[in-house]
Amino acid sequence: MTASSQPDWTQVRSQFPALAQVIHDRPLIYFDNAATSQKPNAVLDVLQHYYQCDNANVHRGLHELSNRATEAYEGARKKIARYIGAASEEEIIFTRGTTEAINLVAQSWGRKNLRAGDVVLLTEMEHHSNLVPWQIVAEQTGAILKHVPVTDDGLLDLDQLEQLLTEEVKLFSFVHVSNSLGTINPAKELCAKAKAVGALTFLDGAQSAGHMPVDVRDIGCDFYALSGHKMCGPTGIGALWGKKSLLDSMPPWQGGGEMILKVELTRSTYKPVPARFEAGTPDISGAIVLGAAVDYLESLGRDQIWAHDSELTRYALDRLTEVKGLRVLGPPRGQQRGALAAFVMDSAHPHDLVTFANSHGLALRGGHHCTQPLMRRFRVPSTSRASFYFYNTKQEIDAMIEILHEANKFFG
Ligand code: PMP
Repeated sequence: MTASSQPDWTQVRSQFPALAQVIHDRPLIYFDNAATSQKPNAVLDVLQHYYQCDNANVHRGLHELSNRATEAYEGARKKIARYIGAASEEEIIFTRGTTEAINLVAQSWGRKNLRAGDVVLLTEMEHHSNLVPWQIVAEQTGAILKHVPVTDDGLLDLDQLEQLLTEEVKLFSFVHVSNSLGTINPAKELCAKAKAVGALTFLDGAQSAGHMPVDVRDIGCDFYALSGHKMCGPTGIGALWGKKSLLDSMPPWQGGGEMILKVELTRSTYKPVPARFEAGTPDISGAIVLGAAVDYLESLGRDQIWAHDSELTRYALDRLTEVKGLRVLGPPRGQQRGALAAFVMDSAHPHDLVTFANSHGLALRGGHHCTQPLMRRFRVPSTSRASFYFYNTKQEIDAMIEILHEANKFFG
């Protein structure tokens, strides 16, 4: 498919059975994609097929089903490596998701390398999953946490970043696309700046992997994490990518079967990566189905998905200006942003608004979106968030605007 030719999005949408539902007598409008995406038949079929035909434990059996399961599991690793531009599939470690990938690096790389006084640089716009694991390892090692502030426009304050990026910084971990603001951080530029002071970089790709083309080697980061469930895959599976040389230098963080070479009663030796970081029976079906999700996204076209998501977002931001008393957080209109709009409305608390929306078949999310420090930064307790994916439509956005007008009347 060329960059300009678009899939038939109506036909694409029809492949998602969950979207064809009626909720409270209205057609479901699913705008909670930043929390998790819906799944197409092509992905659901692979899950069903795996358990019906190939279900076996991986890596250990010499029988047909185990061989099939192993081939599919390792095949999924290759697909994910290709999808994000990794140098080899050995650089892909299956995790439960972005959260576990960050915890893995914090506990393995962090505990081994961080010393008292070292700095881990984060930002004020991080998801809790990119704050709390570093708080834990900071307590364990004496490392110091610093945070790049966020401007009123929801961007990272790059002047402050210059001040904060000192040689004490051992790792700069930041979100690629903010789940609360939609901000797209200039990852390539930030990684180059960090590298210049000798710091490693960790890119939280939870909100980028499913939406835009990502090439980790072009970006120049050292670690990247993704969550399968936000990119048409299942919950409970995701991946950590790390540069091979770094992963090779890192100790295991969980022990158990499959990650060992030799076990004695009091000591063991470990397999090379990625097996070293995958103790126990992994989420075999999850990994295989994530591989199918990657195939599916690639069949639509990464550029095409990104173009379509961006078009929906632009349209939503334009139309949201029509709603009285509504303020959108994040980068101003006209600037590129991730496929979401988080907002506050004068007339209603987000929880009331989201409940009202639900009674009209509209799935929004209300709350702090796991970014409590960011909510404090913007002096709001919470926001309402509409987040889009390629199967959403402008008609759904029109319907949301009507519901928001109705909410204003109802609460106002
Ligand atoms: N980072 C960001 C930016 C996210 O949006 C999320 C999910 N809301 C996470 C990390 C955590 O992802 P998961 O819960 O799948 O581990």
